[in-house]
Amino acid sequence: MQKIKSREIRSLIPTEFSKEFYYENINVKKLPIGLINKNIREKVYKILNKGKPFSLVYKYNGDYYLISFMPIKTINNKFLGYLISYSKNKAFEIVQKSFIVNIILSALISLIIGILAYILFRDMERFKHLAETDRLTGLFNKGKFNEVLKKEIERAKRYKRPLSLIIFDIDHFKRINDTYGHKVGDEVLRELAKVIKSIIRKTDFVVRWGGEEFVILAPETDLDGALKLAEKLRQTVEKHQFPTVKNVTISLGVAQYIDEETPEEFIIRADMALYKAKENGRNRVEVAN
Ligand code: GH3
Ligand code: MG
Ligand code: MG
Repeated sequence: MQKIKSREIRSLIPTEFSKEFYYENINVKKLPIGLINKNIREKVYKILNKGKPFSLVYKYNGDYYLISFMPIKTINNKFLGYLISYSKNKAFEIVQKSFIVNIILSALISLIIGILAYILFRDMERFKHLAETDRLTGLFNKGKFNEVLKKEIERAKRYKRPLSLIIFDIDHFKRINDTYGHKVGDEVLRELAKVIKSIIRKTDFVVRWGGEEFVILAPETDLDGALKLAEKLRQTVEKHQFPTVKNVTISLGVAQYIDEETPEEFIIRADMALYKAKENGRNRVEVAN
């Protein structure tokens, strides 16, 4: 293509780029060059007058073309026009395709990593939950309780807040097992866990301490409050109709944390109160010394 003066125009074919540029040697009918030029016009026409070499890639009909503009100059550096070459280039297609493939692959890999992380995290949570809870009742187990008790004692000490413990045990549970069988005994334990949960606060912590013994740790609760909770629990269980066995009673021991006592001493005091409740006839609440 050539840049020419107006009087020469008549005999030449105009380009699609600009009125200043005319084809010197082209078979314009030979598509897709004409069409390509029309489409790249916007990008190209501003740079044309600079007389500098440049190239661009254009996708036409699924094929990639490398279009190079090489300036033609006279010996005294007068800019005459451009030699334009169009070459179909597979490399761009490959680069483009591998770029897309890479994006898809990395998205897939990220997704897989995400799913694996989610599964791992979920299983870890599940294992943690299993390690902390009692299988039969779904309540927390002794291991978890010891951990929570230590933390709550620290908190009660630091902020000088009340903390209470209720230990209770099903009365004559052996008789239930002996009369109705172990399965019915298990059912009573499960039902009792439900009854306890329905009564306590969200902040209270219930544990299956072992066998048919349970513990409730009540933060922000003094002896008076714990006694009320224990009595409410005793009455609710007494009134509740358990499957098969119908009537069940519990005996309870209550203690409020005394400054500087160890977790073990705290538990022993509550346990001694429970022992007193059994001694004094069962189905009752007793307070620790
Ligand atoms: P007390 O009023 O003095 O507490 O009498 P008790 O019969 O409840 O006390 P004891 O400690 O003599 O009996 C507890 C029974 O609880 C014995 C044991 O077989 C039973 N037990 C412990 N764990 C389970 C369990 O997971 N399921 C069932 N079904 N029974 C259990
Ligand atoms: Mg018992
Ligand atoms: Mg017992």
